[in-house]
Amino acid sequence: MPYLVRERLYFGGIKDAIAALTESSSTPDFTHVLSVVSSASISFITDCRPGLEIPTEEVLRVVAGEEGAAPTAAVPPGTLMRVVERAGHGLRVTRMAVPLRDTEEADLLDRLEPCLEFIDEGRKVGNVLVHCFAGVSRSASIIVAYLMRAEQKSLEEALEALKEISESACPNDGFLDQLKLFEEMGFKVDTSSPLYKRFRLKLLGQSYISGEKISSYMFEDDPGLSLESGSCQDSSKVEQRKTAYRCRKCRRVIAVEGNVISHVPGEGESCFDWNRRKSGHPYNNKEHGCSSLFVEPLKWMTPAVEDGALEGKLSCIHCGARLGYFNWSGIQCNCGSWVTPAFQIVKSKVDISTI
Ligand SMILES: [Zn+2]
Ligand SMILES: [Zn+2]
Repeated sequence: MPYLVRERLYFGGIKDAIAALTESSSTPDFTHVLSVVSSASISFITDCRPGLEIPTEEVLRVVAGEEGAAPTAAVPPGTLMRVVERAGHGLRVTRMAVPLRDTEEADLLDRLEPCLEFIDEGRKVGNVLVHCFAGVSRSASIIVAYLMRAEQKSLEEALEALKEISESACPNDGFLDQLKLFEEMGFKVDTSSPLYKRFRLKLLGQSYISGEKISSYMFEDDPGLSLESGSCQDSSKVEQRKTAYRCRKCRRVIAVEGNVISHVPGEGESCFDWNRRKSGHPYNNKEHGCSSLFVEPLKWMTPAVEDGALEGKLSCIHCGARLGYFNWSGIQCNCGSWVTPAFQIVKSKVDISTI
């Protein structure tokens, strides 16, 4: 039996999903099913019980990189993000399927918003079941995020609330870290926040280490290009003052404040453990003593980075001056902190100005 979490909101496993989609008069009577399993296809569910057939009709399909998907998501373009379909007898159930594997490296954050919206919409008209395979990690993570936002609870409070209902609820460690980030971003997924950028970079680092080809989808727009084209057209616009970093030799803008991945000076950080930082250390700008600046990968770095090398030099795209280094397995700042992966700009090679 699925667990009742809140009015009209239930949490369960694959068996609960089968019951919700096949029984014409189930209790409760589910109108909405959110499936968070490794495949979006209904066959994932029907395969669990040979001979079972569930009629479906697709309503919506969202693929990363296409219209309707978040542009800066940390998933490669072409990744299926979600499918909405009508399913079951008389196609009376609205099912949203979000493919997600239950691993610590899986990107929960970029799938969270549509899930929370789906639950909200579903509860307005009927009963919602959120399920994964075992009803332990993935569905629990979604429910915890929902409780955090709906009831303004911390991660700990929301998890505690769910565990009171189902002891088996236990998001994996990677999901817990992402839920913590969700809390720190104010119960939303803010892709422009430094916290999100750091998360995104770590996922890309993991992709690199696991042997995936790094292509330019992962590079942020070149601020040098967008500034030049933008400043001519929008001269009437009130310019927001922001910090820009320019090549000391040719003055080309190579990064702006928003590209900087901050680190806590002096704090040791081992490879790929962005999450293991000690709590109570917000990323602030106390990096005055640091001789390097770490940024997210930018489009002007593409030629140096795209050939797949573990490390290399970063040179100004305009004049060729050496600006710094990149290393997927990390670079240690002079303050002692490891930044991993690292796209490092040596401060003495750039000038800081406001634009
Ligand atoms: Zn430093
Ligand atoms: Zn230059």
